[in-house]
Amino acid sequence: MKTPVLDVARIRKDFPILTREVNGQPLLYLDNAATSQTPVQVIDTIVDYYSRYNANIHRGVHTLSQEATDAYEQARVKIQKHFNAAKAHEILFTSGTTHGINLVAQGFTEFLKPGDEIWVSALEHHSNIVPWQMLCQRTGARLRVIPMDEKGELVLQPFREGLSNKTKLVFCNHVSNALGTVNDIEAIIAAAHEVGAAVLVDGAQAAPHIAADLQALDVDFYTVSAHKLCGPTGVGILYGKEAWLEKLPPYQGGGEMIETVTFDKTTYAGLPHKFEAGTPNICGGIAFGAALDYLNAIGMDAIAAYEDQLLAHATEALMKIPGMKIYGESARKTSVISFNLEGIHPYDVGTLLDKMGIAVRTGHHCAQPIMDFYRIPGTVRASFSFYNTLEEADRLAAGVERARQMLS
Ligand SMILES: *Cc1c(COP(=O)(O)O)cnc(C)c1O
Repeated sequence: MKTPVLDVARIRKDFPILTREVNGQPLLYLDNAATSQTPVQVIDTIVDYYSRYNANIHRGVHTLSQEATDAYEQARVKIQKHFNAAKAHEILFTSGTTHGINLVAQGFTEFLKPGDEIWVSALEHHSNIVPWQMLCQRTGARLRVIPMDEKGELVLQPFREGLSNKTKLVFCNHVSNALGTVNDIEAIIAAAHEVGAAVLVDGAQAAPHIAADLQALDVDFYTVSAHKLCGPTGVGILYGKEAWLEKLPPYQGGGEMIETVTFDKTTYAGLPHKFEAGTPNICGGIAFGAALDYLNAIGMDAIAAYEDQLLAHATEALMKIPGMKIYGESARKTSVISFNLEGIHPYDVGTLLDKMGIAVRTGHHCAQPIMDFYRIPGTVRASFSFYNTLEEADRLAAGVERARQMLS
């Protein structure tokens, strides 16, 4: 057996859920691309918040409110530093990636006119397609698609050739959730900026593996969901360049986002409050900061190196199975393996694996256009995190082989 490049045995002790059994077998959790598990350090942060200083923020003079406000704003700064944003107020708390994308799509309504163009990549999650279709319906703008190839990589030539002064907005995920492809967003951002278009990158799938340097990327907007990187569900961030956030109209009206209100006129609060109407997920934001502390204590580079090792090991083990077809063969991919067994429906494989205590995802992974491209109903997707082991990769391969024998 190879030696893991990370002390996984120690790390696994931080995740209480990994000790549970499913269907009489030790849980083997390989659905990390849908949501990650939560270390005790983050769970403790949540318990501590509700046990000691639960209070509404930004409005109270009392001590609890000040403690909660401080912790929430410190979390914003942690997130700013982690992703190297220039300013803390460029980090907006959201309920997650979907919310962040809708905030931008709604905001662009008044910047677009009929004939304008929006590009999206062929590798998108549904949450990254539908809001743009709705935006096109509202404004008369046209949706264009950056195509993909058999390897699951984007083909940039048609995009480069199609860019013009009509191009207003480009959307692409940093990493595809269905295939794990790491997209060349640097090239996409540079090309879009040449014609003055804004770029929103969906970082939901990249953030668990790559601490994006937002200033170096020069990206206009970037979204992240905390629950994909060891944080709680229902909280995330939208990064926006200050100049864009100043220009963009507020997404929702409510408390916290206003400066003055009379029945004649309301003036909006400054950033980030203009976009943070109502009581936010205070505890979630603080726990998001704790999750980043946890990941940074291990080190994002160490995590990425170990996940590469897991990916190579699991790919090799799975490829030995007769009839195995892996979708997404980009040289740059994260630890996501989407596959099918010849002549067997992915759902049947997933159901048998669950009986063996192995949690994978089956289906179209909210990315139907990718499945249409390959002319398949879906795939089995095993997605690894840094708390998975090389032995677990072997156990997955053995489980898939057993399922194949039972189903063929
Ligand atoms: C998970 C995911 C989303 C949606 O995230 P939510 O937290 O459900 O809003 C969007 N894009 C990608 C690439 C994802 O992996």
